[in-house]
Amino acid sequence: MNAIRYPSDDTLCEDCGYALKGLLAEGDCPECGKRIAESSPGLRLGLGDRDRVDLGLVRRPGAYFRAMRVDGSNGPARWFMLKIILMIGLFWLLWGSTRGDWSLGTDLFTGGVVMGSLYLLSYVEVLGVVFFSRRRGWRVPFGLAERLVCYASIGWIPAVIVMGIAVDRYVAGDIDRWMRQLLGVWGTWQSIELLVLVGTVAMLWFELLVWIGVRQTKYANFHGEAVPSEIDAEESASAVET
Ligand SMILES: [Zn+2]
Repeated sequence: MNAIRYPSDDTLCEDCGYALKGLLAEGDCPECGKRIAESSPGLRLGLGDRDRVDLGLVRRPGAYFRAMRVDGSNGPARWFMLKIILMIGLFWLLWGSTRGDWSLGTDLFTGGVVMGSLYLLSYVEVLGVVFFSRRRGWRVPFGLAERLVCYASIGWIPAVIVMGIAVDRYVAGDIDRWMRQLLGVWGTWQSIELLVLVGTVAMLWFELLVWIGVRQTKYANFHGEAVPSEIDAEESASAVET
């Protein structure tokens, strides 16, 4: 008969990060009092190799990331982000084609730049999460950070829409004109500053999703191998002998 040993050697309390090794699954965390059973990887069955992203990610991201598996392949997560970014590229072309000055070459080029920038920003975010987690003593290695950022990439959709509209109005000269009407004096460089500010605000949902994801997985326990109880008995027996 196979039994999964829990807590295992690398089980952490999912709330406070206390090492639960050697404690009974029925007890409470000695550090924060959370029930040890509540840190079980058995509660992380939501996503994994048979990945399916649903509206839960948008409606209840906290619960979504709390139920996310942290082992297995990142393939489905990467595929999810690729789909999001391709969708944004397609949106870019469709939106471009509604404008009078549309040109396939230009819009393909700028669309490519947008898509490449989103990939770049996403992986900068991954590195940021890894760096930050290391400093805080959180268990978020590169692979997990990548998975979180891939799912949070759904936040790029509103960011690109907001930024796209803002840049479009800037290029048309509307922002300069509106601000001059509003404030009297307005320099072009101030419009650039305004665009940077709008971009930062537009990224908030993406950043919020990453932050929620890190919060819900910073001490996440992964599914260990099923350990046959016979091996356990043999190990203890040999330990007694030596
Ligand atoms: Zn605890």
